[in-house]
Amino acid sequence: MDDGSLSVASPEPGGHVARPVRTTCPYCGVGCGVLATPDSSGGATIKGDPAHPANAGRLCSKGSALGDTLALDTRLLEPVVDGARTTWNTALDHVAQRLEAIRAAHGPGSIAFYLSGQLLTEDYYVANKLAKGFLGTPHVDTNSRLCMASSVAGHKRAFGADAVPQCYDDLELADLVVLVGSNAAWCHPILYQRIQVARGERGMRVVNIDPRQTATSEGCDLNLAIRPGTDQVLYNGLLVWLADRGHLDHEFVSRHTSGFDAVLASAREAAPSVRQVAAATGLDVSDVELFFSWFGSTRRVVSCYSQGVNQSAQGTDKVNAIINCHLATGMIGKPGSGPLSFTGQPNAMGGREVGGLANMLAAHMGFSDSERDRVRRFWNAPALVASEGLKAVDMFEAIQRGEIKALWVMGTNPAVSLPRADRVRDALRKLDLLVVSENVMATDTLDLAHVRLPAHAWGEKDGTVTNSERRISRQRPFLEAAGSARADWWIMGEVARRLGFGTAFSFTSPAEIFDEHARLSGFENTAASPADRRAFDISGLTGIGGGGYDALEPVQWPVRTGSAPAERLFADGGFFTPDTRARFIATSPARLASPVSEQWPFVLNTGRIRDQWHTMTRTGLSPRLSTHIQEPFVEIHPEDASRLGLEQGTLARIETAHGAATVRVLLSRGQKPGNIFAPFHWSAQNSSSGRVSSLVHGAIDPVSGQPEAKATPARLAPVAVTHYGFLLSRTPLRPEGMAYWAECRALFGATPGFTLHLALDTDAARMSDWQRATLPDGDWITLEDAGAGTFRTAVFRDSQLEAVLFLSASPKLPATDWLRTQFDSPCDLAGRRTILAGKPVTGGADEGPIVCVCYQVGSRRIEAATLGGCATTKEIGTKLGAGTNCGSCLPEIKRLIASTMAASRAAAE
Ligand code: SF4
Repeated sequence: MDDGSLSVASPEPGGHVARPVRTTCPYCGVGCGVLATPDSSGGATIKGDPAHPANAGRLCSKGSALGDTLALDTRLLEPVVDGARTTWNTALDHVAQRLEAIRAAHGPGSIAFYLSGQLLTEDYYVANKLAKGFLGTPHVDTNSRLCMASSVAGHKRAFGADAVPQCYDDLELADLVVLVGSNAAWCHPILYQRIQVARGERGMRVVNIDPRQTATSEGCDLNLAIRPGTDQVLYNGLLVWLADRGHLDHEFVSRHTSGFDAVLASAREAAPSVRQVAAATGLDVSDVELFFSWFGSTRRVVSCYSQGVNQSAQGTDKVNAIINCHLATGMIGKPGSGPLSFTGQPNAMGGREVGGLANMLAAHMGFSDSERDRVRRFWNAPALVASEGLKAVDMFEAIQRGEIKALWVMGTNPAVSLPRADRVRDALRKLDLLVVSENVMATDTLDLAHVRLPAHAWGEKDGTVTNSERRISRQRPFLEAAGSARADWWIMGEVARRLGFGTAFSFTSPAEIFDEHARLSGFENTAASPADRRAFDISGLTGIGGGGYDALEPVQWPVRTGSAPAERLFADGGFFTPDTRARFIATSPARLASPVSEQWPFVLNTGRIRDQWHTMTRTGLSPRLSTHIQEPFVEIHPEDASRLGLEQGTLARIETAHGAATVRVLLSRGQKPGNIFAPFHWSAQNSSSGRVSSLVHGAIDPVSGQPEAKATPARLAPVAVTHYGFLLSRTPLRPEGMAYWAECRALFGATPGFTLHLALDTDAARMSDWQRATLPDGDWITLEDAGAGTFRTAVFRDSQLEAVLFLSASPKLPATDWLRTQFDSPCDLAGRRTILAGKPVTGGADEGPIVCVCYQVGSRRIEAATLGGCATTKEIGTKLGAGTNCGSCLPEIKRLIASTMAASRAAAE
């Protein structure tokens, strides 16, 4: 049996490669270049690649901490079938036999694949070929459906192809950048920093359109906190305003587009005046006018849209409402001018290139007879599917109904990330066969799998990814594969061979797969007119061989044979529609899929935080990244909180018609009354009840099938507990009997440890029993005031702190930051008493909550430096280093400086 090792570049003798390897960050769609220099113990030093066009050497906090995530203690290292570890041969035979049996009994449509934007393009290609060409099932979809499917659908409606017109350099060439539904400061940090640098140097304006105030708002000239779900009203109003004020590019509209008059009439109906736009969106008339006038009077405008637009039951309409304004002004495909979708996943676009979505075939082909025939002939496929498959939400509904019997999940965690996640978890339990290819040993999805297949992790993977600006970059291996982990393409190829499809899956390297993918992109794709051509074409990369593939520089598609790669598209028309004209698209009236009601009075918006990625299977391994935000939370306006009896730091139960979660309360004036926000990262692996996607309704956009994650009707209530607390320990401790808990890794000085935030609902009499059952053996010292509900215990072994438990009737506990530093050094008797105080008695520095994770600088030090005279982020950086590495914390530092100065001024008055 081929063991797949051909996929991995050979390390040098001695087990590691001492030189930096150029690879790509595995997190967001920015696609930053990384230089990874392996050490001799399985780790690596991580730096940004100065030569990569996306990031020019910078990395955000997540990318900078990639080196923390390479340890093997949570890796899945061997195949597991029905709970028993086994060999690859046994596991692969089992998967092939079960798939064949299910296909024979229930037909090919009873098998589905659920893929991931984490997969490499080569893995994605093989999965699609196997499913859609050979097994004969169309049911292949991906977690990218949750990320950018509405942008894809909007692009296809307007441009005739899923082709992003712009490149990242446009963010620096623009005079106005409009961020729509994008907390770029946290979710696409390097692009946000590129925007901020240009703003500082060139005076570029930035407008932020988002119902809530976020870190992104800090660096904007105009914040438009629109009512959720009203984006297309704003953009319809803009179209009308542009037409009425003479800001149209009539020549572009008449030569390169169609449908303008009808769409303008429809926009006029939906948003006839600035006043009506303001009323519908909840904005001030003056703010709407200012935005419109900036857009109309600027010739270089880039509109960046992300999950706030895409994750909506009207996401495709919102995308088209934005694109309409760019087409009407001819601001498309030009330097510093055009619409630019920020994709969430590292390889969302690569997946689309090979047909990773259920409504696409490979190489941007659809399901017309001629396209199907072309793919069938190219693959020599015996069972090419006849039509589109089920999109993600519908796929899991079909599993729930028992129509799909076998599911193969690769590199994703649908039991946590899909809407109605509890229902998804129930559906997975009904499967006759659940195969999960993963690189970690436990996730909420893996826990339900019949077969677990150990896949390569980042650092071992070898292939390509495509970022948001159509740039294909190499992910190169720099570590030996862990245990018996294998490349995803190899795993699928071996199953295909066992199913009798060996000839079509005889790949021996990712370079061979890439070559076939490139050839298919150029296959019967040579027409001169874009009307008869497919946008995705990398035929110019055909035949580069293993050496050319290894050396492949980041390159934007299309790369047609004999042509240079295209930085931008459509400046001179040439759209991929039958008449080569772009389409104006009328949008439906704005509405929320499920409006709030007396029973469900809040609009729940879900999303991401700065330092975690998706379901935390990788970023959760970095103690540094967990210093910023450690628990699941809900942001709520103070007035709403007060009405409900919720205080800062208490616990709230969020409930919707689909599920419930218990999370920490965070008061924020950045939330509008009636709106709440909760991040979706936490799972059953690290929290008692933080599975926020279980709350999200399953409403989908009718065009794209993308679920709405930003507007689920919800209600909140306080959770009554007797004690709030935390437990710091060198090893993970998860005691019984907690009303709430959330666990994260932590830095204890220089050594790693664990933080458990918890709450109890118990009486004082039972407290000592609970403590005894919870804490490890050692020398205990305890401070107890049962009347006040205070219990503090520190456990020592050989003068070293082993664990600290603090409990209080109040949620106002000391910050854990100083305590964590006390695990590093021996502690005398006096020191032990100080530990129970929870803060330094004299002299020692108390950081406060960590703001800059790169240099572990806390809020108190930043406040002190501000009071000491530092008035700008630059001055803070010079004094403390904070914000000078990845820059992800700069918006927060800016906000801290402002609030510290304001408090200082108020105190002086
Ligand atoms: Fe990775 Fe951060 Fe770059 Fe995104 S912005 S690719 S997470 S380093």
